[in-house]
Amino acid sequence: MLEQNLPIQPPATLGLLGGGQLGRMFTVAAKTMGYRVIVVDPDPLAPAAHFADQHICAPFDDANALQQLAQCAAVTTEFENVNADAMKALAEKTRVTPSGELVAIAQNRITEKTTIRKSGLPTTPFQVIQTSSDVNEQTTTLLPGILKTATMGYDGKGQRSINTLAGLHIGLSALLKENSFILERKLDLTTELSVIVCRLDTAHVKTFPPAENIHENGILAYSLVPARLPETIIKRAESMAKHLAEKLNYVGVLAVEMFVVGEKQQLVINEIAPRPHNSGHYTIDACISNQFQQQARIMCGLPPAPTNLHHPCCMVNLLGDIWGENGEEPNWTPILEAPDAFLHLYGKKEARTGRKMGHFTVLSNSAENAYKRALYLFAEVCKNNQQVA
Ligand code: ADP
Ligand code: MG
Repeated sequence: MLEQNLPIQPPATLGLLGGGQLGRMFTVAAKTMGYRVIVVDPDPLAPAAHFADQHICAPFDDANALQQLAQCAAVTTEFENVNADAMKALAEKTRVTPSGELVAIAQNRITEKTTIRKSGLPTTPFQVIQTSSDVNEQTTTLLPGILKTATMGYDGKGQRSINTLAGLHIGLSALLKENSFILERKLDLTTELSVIVCRLDTAHVKTFPPAENIHENGILAYSLVPARLPETIIKRAESMAKHLAEKLNYVGVLAVEMFVVGEKQQLVINEIAPRPHNSGHYTIDACISNQFQQQARIMCGLPPAPTNLHHPCCMVNLLGDIWGENGEEPNWTPILEAPDAFLHLYGKKEARTGRKMGHFTVLSNSAENAYKRALYLFAEVCKNNQQVA
């Protein structure tokens, strides 16, 4: 049903699987363009529900919810761990982007990495481990390594560092019943990059400028754009991401995470997300269009808008860690008063350690200066909180 009656015009109703912060920012973008939005999410307090026309509070595979989504002009997702079969079934009735088949690939690190390799692109060296008898001579070449659950891992969860074969067996005996795994060699990362690709078809593909990502405790902390890397590497990252989207015949917004490895600054693909990505939040304040507008455009059959950066920037994630012990809201004055900083809060009621509660983006004349300024503003907010406590 993909190519029927395109483009989809407002005020058509768009369906969204998942109502977290990505869904919330998508909903704002789609509503601004004049579309109606129905969101499905089992959480009664789903952040997207504040903006959506309708919130169906139900599991992602609920038959009634799916029946209502099937009435929408188009359906998309903000979350890769939705039921891919449900998305495939929906595709018989309406336009679904990205396709359930591609979402299924990203749900499992084994199919994900295998697919990336088949498209001719490098990944980290890895081995599939389904039982401890899979451990063989190749395994030692991957140590020291990282053992990752094949499914449901995010923000560094479901991962352990493995230094020895004995340690691997211990890790497996503790974890094997839960999942199958990949063991990946731990690489010497000089930088982490991500590229957001927006693709309608072969003739209509754009990438946002690659973001340089800095993680803390396995969670994205800062994204700097432009990445502080030679132009040749930035260009190669963009073309690798485009190549992958093309090989997958991907329709929608695709985030491609990459590692820059060793002195030779080789690029390898780490993982993909079939949706907008945390590292693309900077596009809201620093680019001509943003990743959520692109998601709405492409699901409606419209070509992606220009992706140019209008200011170098730094995005900072705001995690629940900086809320008070009793959930007190931080004092945002330093960010609010700064003319070069833009605050985004996701309206989540409960602040937990590591939970993504919001972000802010600082614009400057270079990514380096934006980063320095962002660190300063962030420290000011944290200082205020200590004074309150
Ligand atoms: P998640 O799904 O949790 O984002 P990732 O595979 O992206 O899982 O791993 C999270 C972070 O852990 C990465 O951003 C990177 O900092 C680090 N990491 C993951 N794999 C490797 C590796 N093979 N070598 C070195 N660092 C790694
Ligand atoms: Mg990752």
